[in-house]
Amino acid sequence: MIRIKCPYCGERDHSEFTYGGDASIQYPSLDGTEKEWVEAIFFRKNIFGKQLETWHHANGCRMWLEVERSTTTHEIYSVKPCHPEMKKVLEKKDPNDL
Ligand SMILES: [Zn+2]
Repeated sequence: MIRIKCPYCGERDHSEFTYGGDASIQYPSLDGTEKEWVEAIFFRKNIFGKQLETWHHANGCRMWLEVERSTTTHEIYSVKPCHPEMKKVLEKKDPNDL
């Protein structure tokens, strides 16, 4: 069982989340070549060990998260919002200020 500590909701079962994919992929620019796009979309590494992933808290706050997880042990090393501005929102002390 994987438990993910959402920065907004706290620790939750992974069944509340949907897997979004490898977060380390660098997509080409919109005017990139077909070969660059094919490689970015279809040719993925099969990482053995620590991997950066995106997860969507679909049955919670609906935030997209960047999770560093081991593909072999499922240990989670870090969780943070994908959007850098969310960190500022989460640091506010009064949740009514949201
Ligand atoms: Zn959440």
